[in-house]
Amino acid sequence: MIGRDSSQTAASMANISGREVTKSYTKPTTPDDDEGLVTVATIPNVVVEGESHPQQHSEWIVSEQVTKQKVFKAPGYPKPIPKPFDGDLPVYEIKATPDMGLGLFATRSFSAGDLIFAERPLLVLPLGMINLYDEVPAEASNRSGDLTYSHPATAGPFNLGDAEVLIELAVSKMNPDVSRAFHSLDNCHSPNDYSQMIGIALTNALRITNLYDGPTYRAYLNSYAGISEIGSRINHSCKPNVYFTFDLASFSFSFKALRDIASGEQLFRSYCSIHAGRAQRRKELADWNIICRCASCANTTTDSDGLRLGCDKIIFNAIGIVTNSCRMNRAAMRSSFEYLAQLRQELYDEGLYTSKLYPSLLRIMRALCMKMESVDKAKEIEEEMKKYDKINDDLGAE
Ligand SMILES: [Zn+2]
Repeated sequence: MIGRDSSQTAASMANISGREVTKSYTKPTTPDDDEGLVTVATIPNVVVEGESHPQQHSEWIVSEQVTKQKVFKAPGYPKPIPKPFDGDLPVYEIKATPDMGLGLFATRSFSAGDLIFAERPLLVLPLGMINLYDEVPAEASNRSGDLTYSHPATAGPFNLGDAEVLIELAVSKMNPDVSRAFHSLDNCHSPNDYSQMIGIALTNALRITNLYDGPTYRAYLNSYAGISEIGSRINHSCKPNVYFTFDLASFSFSFKALRDIASGEQLFRSYCSIHAGRAQRRKELADWNIICRCASCANTTTDSDGLRLGCDKIIFNAIGIVTNSCRMNRAAMRSSFEYLAQLRQELYDEGLYTSKLYPSLLRIMRALCMKMESVDKAKEIEEEMKKYDKINDDLGAE
């Protein structure tokens, strides 16, 4: 039985129409779209009968009023957050790490694609308020906004002062538990640069690619980011074992296994572009003061950087070479299989199984196994292929 907590209805919104908020990018206008009005909407918690821990509410800083309808009209809204198959049993623990502060560790094993946990964000805000990227696209730099500060955090449609006021307003609407969780999050920025709340937002925001103002996703120019209590604590690795998606109907993040994970392993997501060489990754990670010591960073070679930068093309070419040798004898099939298996291992070692072409590589490896009548091996590869088809769908569907 699902009900709504009447004290936290979506109608309880705080309008700050009196404030000047710089909104200079081209946006669609509709009769409902109140220019310059930014609101803080409360997405109510969902009470599920029999559950001891009610799912928390979320505060959402909304820059375009019509965008709220994308959530309120999502089929099934307000859905309870998805549950992993263990239900209420804890599937992770938070522990100290030797070199990364606290980290999240699996307390059971997971298969690639499994839901590890899902949670409501504490706060959702326009990504433009906390532009996470150093490079400002021409589209953004051409706008005629009133930019008071020069840091990239102000390069979006909001200036830093607006962002501070809005985040403070949203946090002031949180109930004590949610507010405490927000204030307990890490801030890797100096108080000389940002207020504590902006620092927390900059440090912990996760990009939401399927919630944006207007008809088309345009990265941080019109999309949103969420700050979550547990997911934001997952440390970085260039070889992540976790990915996340956002579901509008339950207004929640789902954190899922990107590869098979053993019980006791630390969970990692990537804060930087996976398909970038080490120098670029280091540059991106500097925003979090992270000097990554993952195996990929420690053992970078020209080849490993090349594989990251060109992995789709490398997989495409490898598949092409094998496919074109269509009249292969058994020995040639075996050596083709070994060639692809070696590439698969190299991709796996670099954590590049998120390439859209990874399932295609597995598909052709399975076909070679079938031709060579290695039925068991074909089945094993097929299992992995299905997992990565599902993960690709998941990531593509966002
Ligand atoms: Zn690394």
